[in-house]
Amino acid sequence: MFKRLFNELTLTFDISPKESPLLIKSGRESGVDPTLLDMNFVRTIHPLTGEMAIYLPGSSLKGTLRSYCEKIARTVRPDGGSRWCCDPFDLDVRSSTVFCGKRLEQKNADAKKKPDTLFYKGSCLACRTFGNTQIASHLSLSDAYPLDEPKLEQRDGVAIDRIFNTVAAGPFNMEVVTKGTFRTKMMLRNFQLWQVGLLAVALRELGNGRVPIGFGKSKGFGRVSLTYQKLEISYPGRFSKQDGIRDFSRELIDLESFDYPEKEDYGLFAEKINSLKLKGEGANDIDDGKFGRITTGWNDTASIEEILNSTIGNWRDCALSKWSPSEE
Ligand SMILES: [Zn+2]
Repeated sequence: MFKRLFNELTLTFDISPKESPLLIKSGRESGVDPTLLDMNFVRTIHPLTGEMAIYLPGSSLKGTLRSYCEKIARTVRPDGGSRWCCDPFDLDVRSSTVFCGKRLEQKNADAKKKPDTLFYKGSCLACRTFGNTQIASHLSLSDAYPLDEPKLEQRDGVAIDRIFNTVAAGPFNMEVVTKGTFRTKMMLRNFQLWQVGLLAVALRELGNGRVPIGFGKSKGFGRVSLTYQKLEISYPGRFSKQDGIRDFSRELIDLESFDYPEKEDYGLFAEKINSLKLKGEGANDIDDGKFGRITTGWNDTASIEEILNSTIGNWRDCALSKWSPSEE
């Protein structure tokens, strides 16, 4: 199945510090270079200007989003069972929360043929979305580059010894961003609607400043706001908008709704509603099938929010169901 593409969702959004300094550490500390601070913001070459610029690495954003999705999943169903949501840092195969990648590797070490269905079926909610060492991620996030010149400031900090209440380290100086807008693009492929719903909840919390990113969470650093800029929903391999049952230009269609020979082997969640009608208002028909792809786009924040929020019911149904990923 996953050698083919069925559905694709691309969300472009902007991230800004929300009355809170932001620091994603570069790992390059002062020491040999006296011009550097103790903690510096990560930099790379800006692809548009060709100059060094601070940025938010996609891997860092993805890590934040993953751990928050895990937290939501564990919170809504604390007794979800070992396949509901694993702990990527738990590498003990006897543990009930062992990282799916580790468990699947161990379990299938002797198997000659390892169908990808088996790895997907045996992977938890988080791994089905963000991947593990055995299955590729269905979600990607691009590096977020600044749209304008971000405002950088220097802050001083100390680390306090918890037992003696004295300064354990420092003072050290840090380079933080206090104003700026960083644009990123999230892409989700071959997805179920509960996955979009879970991401919609996590993104909402991130944008409300409840999920800090980067360094200094306990100092109140890293709270951000999000602004949705563009949403595109695509169906690759389609030459016409309708197939008699579905309208690919106006529906958000679950992976489970497509037919393919080995579908049953993936152990997908059986959605109650596996296709959502999308609002036509503000929709742009980007691809009409001439190139074998149907793509519809939305550019206004309110419509994008409405579409994303419409999938939360699918996440709720999944969370409240008895279903849990399983290899059996
Ligand atoms: Zn997992």
